[in-house]
Amino acid sequence: MTTSTLTRLELPSDQDASGRTFGPEELQQLADVLASGTLTSTKGSRVKQLEERFAKLVGARWAYACSSGTSAIHAAIAAIDPEPGDEIVTTPITDMGALTPILYQTAIPVFADVDPRTLNVTAATLEPKLSERTKAIVVTHLFGNPCEMADIRALAVERGIPVVEDCAQSFLATCDGAQVGTLGAIGCFSLQQGKHISTGEGGLVVTDDEALARRLFLFINKAWGYGDPSPDHYFLALNSRMTELQGAVAVAQLDRLEGVVAARQRTAVRLSEQLAGVDGIAVPWIATGNQHSYWKYCLRIDSERLPGGADALAVELRERGIFSSPRYIRKPAFQCQVFTEQRTFGNSRFPFNHARPEAVDYRPELYPGTFSGLEQVLVLPWNERYTDDHVDGIAAAVIEAVSAVRGLA
Ligand SMILES: *Cc1c(COP(=O)(O)O)cnc(C)c1O
Repeated sequence: MTTSTLTRLELPSDQDASGRTFGPEELQQLADVLASGTLTSTKGSRVKQLEERFAKLVGARWAYACSSGTSAIHAAIAAIDPEPGDEIVTTPITDMGALTPILYQTAIPVFADVDPRTLNVTAATLEPKLSERTKAIVVTHLFGNPCEMADIRALAVERGIPVVEDCAQSFLATCDGAQVGTLGAIGCFSLQQGKHISTGEGGLVVTDDEALARRLFLFINKAWGYGDPSPDHYFLALNSRMTELQGAVAVAQLDRLEGVVAARQRTAVRLSEQLAGVDGIAVPWIATGNQHSYWKYCLRIDSERLPGGADALAVELRERGIFSSPRYIRKPAFQCQVFTEQRTFGNSRFPFNHARPEAVDYRPELYPGTFSGLEQVLVLPWNERYTDDHVDGIAAAVIEAVSAVRGLA
């Protein structure tokens, strides 16, 4: 075992106060909401304020807050309103909260392969999965690194298919100067504990389309026509509202967002500069014209040059006090039981029992980029509180760990 020359780094974590900022501004907002006695967004003003300010910040006409990133995706799928058995083409490397809403809305998630450099879907991987039954494309800008949206948009326009962007990990990331979330029909965001900014749980949806905006609003509100002359419950929908308490924290958090992203970008660039050229590892690949917002910082490990690959490097990093996750979610989503055993509603297998066989063909040979990308990726947690010293310590630890892995060969 190598003895590290480094002093142990105490890195800020997004799971506690070391890497989260809930200050006097959040407290004041909360105190005001409590003093008002109105904790529901249907009567209060904080969630409305959040929605107006978020729409302005990302450059969308409408924004609605909801209870989680999962419910944001759910509202997006419900707004698009697929028929049972319709197909929604998406990525197998994402949070399960981006996939289960598709099944709840009775559509079939159809998995496209990904570019192993980014673990993102591309126009080239999406195209072969489109069929007559494709009702939407859902892309995830994974780790904060935007998909190559110009090509994806061109494909979607050609086929007349709406694109939903899952921006849960990519607040303020941009493609050719435009913010993610505004490049498709609907953008979805999460305010869960570990995202760029947080209310513990929470979500946001944005759109420029008036009809979709109406359906998004209704779906979050049990499809009750608030403000209509003779309101009714117009269709099947849940209550996925955000509370005013969350809205209060979110309004204050929103003021921090640009600073959070800028800090993460600055330190990530510093790390990339220090690791550029280290044999066997590649720093994040970012498409020309795109700006990464660094929810996480991912290295790509070449196991031909570093024996044992990402797993071996993670072990060496842990010995040097650096936590990392090799293989991110470890397996593609389609290898989870909800897909392999089609466990949905009772024993019905619905809606999988309506699927074309090709739509649920999960053979690994169809997903070379997915499997190789997952095998190579090493995810480093990232945080706006990282200092230059933290980054320099991480860089030194990675360089040492790389040498150690080589030495073990
Ligand atoms: C976090 C996340 C979600 C789900 O958001 P929750 O707020 O946890 O429900 C969906 N998609 C992606 C890519 C995520 O990272």
